[in-house]
Amino acid sequence: MNDILPDQTPSFQYLENRFQQVAKRYGYREIRFPVLEQTQLFKRSIGEVTDIVEKEMYSFDDRNGDNLSLRPEGTASCVRAADQHGLLFNQQQRLWYQGPMFRHERPQKGRYRQFQQFGIEAFGMAGPDIDAEVIQFSASLWRDLDLGEYLTLQINNIGGAEDRKLYAQALTAFLLSNVAALDDDARNRMHSNPMRVLDSKNSAVQAVLKDAPKLADYVSEASVEHYSELKRLLQLTGVAYVENPRLVRGLDYYNNCVFEWITDSLGAQGTVCGGGRYDGLVEQLGGKPTLAAGFALGAERLVLMLDSLGKVPESARRSVDIYLLVVGKQVVEQGLQLAQQIRDRFPDLGLISHCGGGKYNNQLKRAFNSGARLAVIIEGDGEEPVATVKIRHLDDSGESVSVEIADTGDKLAEILDI
Ligand code: ATP
Ligand code: MG
Repeated sequence: MNDILPDQTPSFQYLENRFQQVAKRYGYREIRFPVLEQTQLFKRSIGEVTDIVEKEMYSFDDRNGDNLSLRPEGTASCVRAADQHGLLFNQQQRLWYQGPMFRHERPQKGRYRQFQQFGIEAFGMAGPDIDAEVIQFSASLWRDLDLGEYLTLQINNIGGAEDRKLYAQALTAFLLSNVAALDDDARNRMHSNPMRVLDSKNSAVQAVLKDAPKLADYVSEASVEHYSELKRLLQLTGVAYVENPRLVRGLDYYNNCVFEWITDSLGAQGTVCGGGRYDGLVEQLGGKPTLAAGFALGAERLVLMLDSLGKVPESARRSVDIYLLVVGKQVVEQGLQLAQQIRDRFPDLGLISHCGGGKYNNQLKRAFNSGARLAVIIEGDGEEPVATVKIRHLDDSGESVSVEIADTGDKLAEILDI
């Protein structure tokens, strides 16, 4: 597992906030589900002969002898949980989730054994309008994060399960007739999961594949029509895309349109988000037939992008806006009251009220360390309540003003422009 989980960093929290805002804007609501599931769930959904199930899952027997796995992704668990809670029966649902996923991979930049995904799943809609919406949702998020110009949308039509079965047969036959030119990896996959051979990084294998049968030629007419309509809707809504006939995704449950968002600003780990339709999955997992589409994004890769491109605004790095210095035993009560008034008036601001006394200089040092923009200073050691406070900018200017205590809120509103 990783030494440090990045989900406490300001950049992660910024991404999290923005994602949740977009989810709200599109009418999606949160669903939560466990990190542990029956291993069988992932075998049945993601597929026995996929990288994830074959070699990336953390699986173990529990005390009852049940084989369980840490979830490697969210869609299968989401379907199981939503169906079990009766959310899918004869209904349309727009759901989102976030949380840690686990895959036993070689850790490197942008690839971890525990990582965070955010995802959305839309149930009960035939598309392609919902497919366009799912993609638009992701595009809106990139726009809000100011990452739009660094990400490219790739799409493909992988047809239905039946189409792919026929295609897989044709592909296997083709690979068999060229077996001498293949590497071990391709030979191993040729029978079990021939479409994964298309992903080969070996240029010799890629050369052979130039003449391979094309999936597009095996896709049903209905599927082609759906896909054309999706492309039209994307154009209409101004979402640019590139068609990639090689895009197949590493999970078996997808059908018809699939997509990935790719960047070249991260080196090898360039896919930040992937999704598509998965119309057969709910039924396959024991529910009533329910059409579905969704995506998952990898938070760490987006956080790497946000940080390296300097896209996290200063305000998002700040969890505290105001630090209240309470200097002198006599002003403790007044300090607490003032803090309360400021919080009541500005419920969205963060205010730390200094507790435990101490010298002015020590308190000011804490104010600077807190990252707050402003210090409000209430100071007094006489019997009489104090009448004024100081507001000091916690920047190099060191600028400060004195105000009547009753006017503190107005002055803060003026300075913070709220
Ligand atoms: P990759 O091709 O990079 O292995 P994948 O196809 O296995 O990705 P998905 O299962 O589609 O990935 O997961 C959706 C997103 O989750 C990916 O696009 C990526 O951003 C992120 N992701 C997947 N695996 C990891 C990992 N081990 N560490 C960090 N992020 C990951
Ligand atoms: Mg992977």
